[in-house]
Amino acid sequence: GEALAVSARVAPLGSRLVLLLVEDLTEARRIEAVRRDFVANVSHELKTPVGALSLLSEAVMDASDDPEAVQRFAGRMQIEATRLTNLVQELIDLSRVQNDDPLEDAEPVRVDELVAEAVDRCRHQAGTKQITIAAGGTADLHVWGNRGQLAAALGNLVENAVNYSPARTRVGVAARRVSAPGGDMIELAVTDQGIGISDKDKERIFERFYRVDPARSRATGGTGLGLAIVKHVVASHGGEVTVWSAEGQGSTFTLRLPEAGAARDRAQQHPDLE
Ligand code: ADP
Repeated sequence: GEALAVSARVAPLGSRLVLLLVEDLTEARRIEAVRRDFVANVSHELKTPVGALSLLSEAVMDASDDPEAVQRFAGRMQIEATRLTNLVQELIDLSRVQNDDPLEDAEPVRVDELVAEAVDRCRHQAGTKQITIAAGGTADLHVWGNRGQLAAALGNLVENAVNYSPARTRVGVAARRVSAPGGDMIELAVTDQGIGISDKDKERIFERFYRVDPARSRATGGTGLGLAIVKHVVASHGGEVTVWSAEGQGSTFTLRLPEAGAARDRAQQHPDLE
């Protein structure tokens, strides 16, 4: 209705302008809807652990004469508190990668260091599941970008590989240089032998808070924000992320990022890019 009214008013200006205005309105509405959904999701995600903590603290008080029960409830409180901390941290990370210009602090980043940092983040979780993480091909490669953000992105992929895999499987991290029209790129592939992702879900997993199996994600401390962070980091670095997966067999997430030398060469050819 509103769109029609607008088009009637501006019709004399030409149909192309009308079309643009209507498209703008539709886009503005879409953005507003996405924002509303996001706030609703954040509220819901915060309420869940807070509600659990409140119930558990009541249970602790009621069980004060049963030390074993108190221990059990306290343990669960700790899990909920960790979940809350993870969620808040990832919300901060997400807002940072959405708002800041990561290339302000861009530098050549050693790929072997990046991989070591990412693997370190989930060494504990991998250890408890007896998952072996093997990295290869990283020597002498450098990507161009923001070290902290790149480590967070790769770390999220390795963490997911561990979380969505059964015990005693392998996770591989492989790096190589590939040539591309605009200059060499570095490809970083994280491969797991886990549960896999259906074609339908593949299109949605990069959305904020989208999870294939919310219960499983929560059980591993997941927030549903990891891949959204990956997507933003990669986009702001002029790279891309792709996923290959077969249900029940495993998944490979591949990051493509500008190679440090290539990024510098590009900047020299076009000094205004610096
Ligand atoms: P989460 O915190 O839930 O892991 P992510 O944004 O990192 O959130 O991932 C979104 C969803 O994508 C996960 O909940 C899971 O369902 C699916 N997913 C991500 N990585 C993998 C993987 N390596 N194997 C199978 N499923 C995955």
